[in-house]
Amino acid sequence: MQYFKTIDHLKDWLAENRQKGLTIGFAPTMGALHPGHVSLVEQCHRDQHLCVVSIFVNPTQFNNPEDLQKYPRTLEHDLDLLYAVDTDAVFVPDVTEIYPSDWQAPQVKLDGLDERLEGVFRPGHFKGVVQVMARLLELVCPDYLYMGQKDYQQWTIIHKLIQHLRLPIQLVMSPTVREADGLAMSSRNVRLTPEFRTKAVVIHQAMQWIKKHLHKYTIDQLQEHAAHLINETGLRLEYVGIVDGYDLKSVQQVDQHKKIVVCVAAWAGDVRLIDNLILVDKK
Ligand code: AMP
Repeated sequence: MQYFKTIDHLKDWLAENRQKGLTIGFAPTMGALHPGHVSLVEQCHRDQHLCVVSIFVNPTQFNNPEDLQKYPRTLEHDLDLLYAVDTDAVFVPDVTEIYPSDWQAPQVKLDGLDERLEGVFRPGHFKGVVQVMARLLELVCPDYLYMGQKDYQQWTIIHKLIQHLRLPIQLVMSPTVREADGLAMSSRNVRLTPEFRTKAVVIHQAMQWIKKHLHKYTIDQLQEHAAHLINETGLRLEYVGIVDGYDLKSVQQVDQHKKIVVCVAAWAGDVRLIDNLILVDKK
């Protein structure tokens, strides 16, 4: 596994391999890796010649300084995991490498995607995500980009970014990897107390309840009941949104959408969790 701290070395390696006609897949991460991240690498490996992973805790996407400070950092463990799944290259840049003083993020028209769901509760978050992804994609120029369904809204925004900048990159959505009880794997889960770790499963249960009863109740009733389930367990719900899978606008009539997703954010103690489930996907 190649380990790069600087852009110049990474770029030389990428150019060398591109000349050989090898396809390059890329999975950006913030480290504290778990099997969800590993699944991106494995999928990338199955489909592409080479898999590049970046580990960079992007300060500009944290709207809350305490969240940034508490974000788990486990580089040694991350490198062991990546090595074990035959990752070809790992890029671990410093902040000055990603954001040199003369670099400016492109202005991207997101058509309101960044204002809904997470956008309401984490102002500025997606601006930071777009900034770091624009930079990473400019540096790595992958043929394929692997990102998780776990961060569904982020996926739609990066899809828009790629379209807007007309980048020759195929964006792949990797399915969410869950714990045995249904909790979506997340780097933040290590911060859950044992009590909240047990209770956190209610997020998945509430979304499954919505999926099961989608055609039985109104959207408002579905959202209200899911909110009730989550709050009565002792989590603090921020939102439950049944939204169109493309524009993320609230759904009124289920039969008028090709793709529908339910997205949830809730606090389990002082840990903020997000998750989602695809309810309708008509190909
Ligand atoms: P992060 O390190 O949280 O920025 O995540 C890096 C990438 O891993 C993103 O594309 C996430 O959507 C993806 N990811 C995080 N958790 C999971 C999971 N449980 N299953 C699948 N992909 C995930």
